[in-house]
Amino acid sequence: MTPLEGIQKAAKEFNIPIKDANPNCKSCYGRGYTSINTTTGEPVPCKCIMPDMNETTKRAVEMSARPPRNRKEKRLQAKYAKRNLTKVNLG
Ligand SMILES: [Zn+2]
Repeated sequence: MTPLEGIQKAAKEFNIPIKDANPNCKSCYGRGYTSINTTTGEPVPCKCIMPDMNETTKRAVEMSARPPRNRKEKRLQAKYAKRNLTKVNLG
C-alpha cells in the first residue's frame, strides 16, 4: 500500500471526499502527500487532495492512513473514526 492509497482508504472510512492529487502541485508534486512522519510512518495529506480539512479530520486521516502497529493504535484509530464520522460535514 502506497502512502496515497493509505490516505484514500482512510478518507473512505471516514466518508471524506478527497480529490485526485494534482500532478502540478508545488507542495506534493502529484504524490498526494507532502511528507511522511519518520517516527510513525504517517503520511501527511496534501491540501490539493484535502482542501477543506480541519485539523482534527486531517489528523484522523493521517493516523489511519497506515496500518496500526499495535492494539493501542488500533483503538485510537477506531476512536478517531467514530468521533469524526459524526463531526465531518459531508456537504
Ligand atoms: Zn498537492
